[in-house]
Amino acid sequence: MDTKTLQEYDRKYVWHPFTQMREWEAEPPLVIVGGEGSWLIDSDGNRYLDGVASVWTNVHGHCKREINEALKAQVDRLEHATQLGLANDQAALLAKRLVEVTPAGLCKVFYSDNGSTAVEVAIKMAFQYQQHVGRSRKTRFISFKNAYHGDTLGCVSVGGIDLFHEVFRPLLFSTIQAPSPYCYRCASGGSGDSASCGRFCLQELERLMAVHADEVAGLVIEPLVQGAGGMIVQPPGFLKKVRELCDRYEILMIADEVAVGFGRTGTMFACEQEAVTPDIMALSKGITAGYLPLAATMTTQKVYDAFLGDYAELKTFFHGHTFTGNPLACAVALASLELFESERLLEQLPAKIAYLQGRLAEIARLPHVGEARQAGMIGGIELVANRETKEPYPWEERVGLQVCRVARSHGLFLRPLGNVIVIFPPLSITLDEIKLLLDGVEASITHVTGQ
Ligand SMILES: *Cc1c(COP(=O)(O)O)cnc(C)c1O
Repeated sequence: MDTKTLQEYDRKYVWHPFTQMREWEAEPPLVIVGGEGSWLIDSDGNRYLDGVASVWTNVHGHCKREINEALKAQVDRLEHATQLGLANDQAALLAKRLVEVTPAGLCKVFYSDNGSTAVEVAIKMAFQYQQHVGRSRKTRFISFKNAYHGDTLGCVSVGGIDLFHEVFRPLLFSTIQAPSPYCYRCASGGSGDSASCGRFCLQELERLMAVHADEVAGLVIEPLVQGAGGMIVQPPGFLKKVRELCDRYEILMIADEVAVGFGRTGTMFACEQEAVTPDIMALSKGITAGYLPLAATMTTQKVYDAFLGDYAELKTFFHGHTFTGNPLACAVALASLELFESERLLEQLPAKIAYLQGRLAEIARLPHVGEARQAGMIGGIELVANRETKEPYPWEERVGLQVCRVARSHGLFLRPLGNVIVIFPPLSITLDEIKLLLDGVEASITHVTGQ
């Protein structure tokens, strides 16, 4: 099919996520028809470096031979069988592997099919757990300012991005919102120092817990980095302290590793960096290396055991999704975990991370960069109108989007978060490709914001 027809079908029939469709319809879209390594290929044969790993999912590159083969082999054996009343081989094998690679103590896997459902499951599991252990007043959740946990209503309830979430307020349950360590503009008054901001946020969190402990079932946190909130990096020790506070106040800690899991921060899981085992962990995005929808909500023996009983006790976890434990997705996830080992992927990361860190430190000196944040293979470059006061660009100007548009002419595909330019390439990206990516990002920022 020719490009023009594909563009016409898209604009005529497809409603895109998080997209003002009037704008979308005004310009012919890029139509991606192929992928190879770190590159996306459009219907005219142009190649774009996938700077955001197809929105934070891709791990080993596009069309990775080993994964393609695993998927093809599985489709000839079994495409799907329900988990309601049946087990399947791939789901069982993957559950064992997930227990092996996740922080010690997480030993049960509840499958679903996207990041939002993984978090919904976590919320309902924590809520019901507290009912079963006799703490029936513990029904509320602590969430963080700037948090993003997905777009279904439970996830939006524990989210903290007003731009996305405010319109749905009447549909949501109320949470207790703690401040997020958003460095220079946090509620501490903006001392400009991430560590003191982190201390302020933890003090405030502890105060909230002390006041509300007997009504709080769980706390939901994105470990190390708040993703969609703008790649906001927590100071060292923050997560560990949150774990301690949750223990002290008998609050289940839910770690949403949907974005940071599977190597993104330099370790297999972000929680490892602070030697934290959450009570519940949500996984998706990177779990299938960006191939297929799959998610897992993992928990401990303690939480699992609270749901055991005679059927008539009604302790069953009444929740499930049709494509739970899909064998195709599980086979792909297994192949991805094998590649982590055979290609020693985590061992390749320090050199790439060091390069990224160095380049971001340079970019941080550009006149309209307020801050360049980094954690492992994640970068977030915040563009501001005034570097000294950190005054933001008016959001309607969409400077971030303008930069990403210009980046296309440098052969890059990028997707910003407001005025934060996101760097989130496939972990398999080569050093040469990262250089290309950051050269293009730097040139595009300079082009749009001036010298
Ligand atoms: C993307 C994301 C989600 C939601 O995942 P979907 O698959 O888009 O529903 C949840 N939490 C975090 C941290 C995410 O980045």
